[in-house]
Amino acid sequence: MAEKRELSCIDCAVVHCNKMDKAFPDFCLTTQVVTDEMKENVKKLYQEEENQKSMQAAAGVEYDGYCSLTRVQEIMEYAKRMGVKKIGIATCVGLLSESRALAKIFRYHGFEVYGAGCKVGCIRKTEIGLPEEQEQLGVNTCNPILQAQLLNEAGTELNVVVGLCVGHDSLFYKYSNALVTTAVTKDRVTGHNPVAAIYGCDFYFKKRLFPENK
Ligand code: SF4
Repeated sequence: MAEKRELSCIDCAVVHCNKMDKAFPDFCLTTQVVTDEMKENVKKLYQEEENQKSMQAAAGVEYDGYCSLTRVQEIMEYAKRMGVKKIGIATCVGLLSESRALAKIFRYHGFEVYGAGCKVGCIRKTEIGLPEEQEQLGVNTCNPILQAQLLNEAGTELNVVVGLCVGHDSLFYKYSNALVTTAVTKDRVTGHNPVAAIYGCDFYFKKRLFPENK
């Protein structure tokens, strides 16, 4: 018997919500889930000052820099349009030289930069309840909450993530006072290019991702 699953946008082959050139599928979230009330509520949220400013800046960067600005340039352009003077970098210590290079670029373009590395505070993994054997990979724990607190204290106005581990990044996003964007997504296998595994899921990465159906 075929597996029963809840259909959603990830199962959609028409994406009528984008170009409005076909028809909505039966399970379409736009027609079946989203109510007028939800739309009105979200429109109100976009009128809140920070949200409106961010939407204007993001849409402007997309429009003006479409397929011509790199992500690093886009971050700076977004920061300028947001009126940001001081950028925080929350970096993996394994990517400190990349973060230094990124800071050099940001500074060249007039931004103040302040960074916090993931092992800041030197707290042992066992001190926060992590299993002792995990100290074989390094004694000190990554410390995304403290990274966020330090950047909050430094008054950074936009924080940029450089290669924080999955889940550590989640906590950094949670505790950062400033809005956060990501410059580098950690992937130790693909040179920090996680989409490589997605592109290759039916071929080079198939055995890793679907081990039962080689
Ligand atoms: S909103 Fe509807 S049309 Fe758009 S991707 Fe989702 S299911 Fe498809």
